[in-house]
Amino acid sequence: MAATLRTDRGRIRRQNEDAAFMDEKRGVFAVADGMGGHLAGEVASSMAVDAVRRMAAKHDAPSIAVLRDTVQDAHREILDRALTSPACSGMGTTLSLLWRGGSYVYIAHVGDSRIYRQRGGRLEQITQDHSLVAEMVRGGLITAEQARTHPRRNIITRALGTPGDNTPDLLAADTRPGDVWLLCSDGLTGMVEDADIERAIAENPLEQAADALLRMALEAGGRDNITLILYRHDGQTPQARGEETTWKRD
Ligand code: CA
Repeated sequence: MAATLRTDRGRIRRQNEDAAFMDEKRGVFAVADGMGGHLAGEVASSMAVDAVRRMAAKHDAPSIAVLRDTVQDAHREILDRALTSPACSGMGTTLSLLWRGGSYVYIAHVGDSRIYRQRGGRLEQITQDHSLVAEMVRGGLITAEQARTHPRRNIITRALGTPGDNTPDLLAADTRPGDVWLLCSDGLTGMVEDADIERAIAENPLEQAADALLRMALEAGGRDNITLILYRHDGQTPQARGEETTWKRD
């Protein structure tokens, strides 16, 4: 297997409220994009990633039930902290989680971070955004292109840790040797169009592709925190208990 992670504060924001988890050997990957005032977003995204880390340490194989429990646990913990710690009031986070088992990946997803699969040079968004503009696109009210610059594009309709809807989308998708999976926060997809992401992944080895994607988001303005994981399915089988990489800093 091969996987790589990039995260960057961007050019405008003072903190990086994204968090990410990568356990390459076990095939577990997650991106969380926190929201909330004054560092609270960082707390929320870190708590979501912690729940993923505990999941990866406890279970040897993926299942939809395990993913559902993990998301529920993360939600309850974050909401509990938000309700009891005044500094964390109102915080929440997205979570896009992928766990590969054999020729499938299992996905849990809440919010507007994204998971894509690139196969045969073609990029396909596998998750659906839980955002107001995505609902408007699905309803035919605006185009995907208009959504990218819509003034309300930051409004998400589901999040972990908030009292509203937190229901995760749970899905399985097939994966083949040669597929490249991309998990990312909206700091990438809000700045870089899918066609350019597709080209960067198609034309570069994994590490260079990750560098290129981050550079493109920064050069486009870097208005938000940028986090991305690239994972190439090279045919090897995930192992139990691998080396993990957790990223978190301000
Ligand atoms: Ca963001």
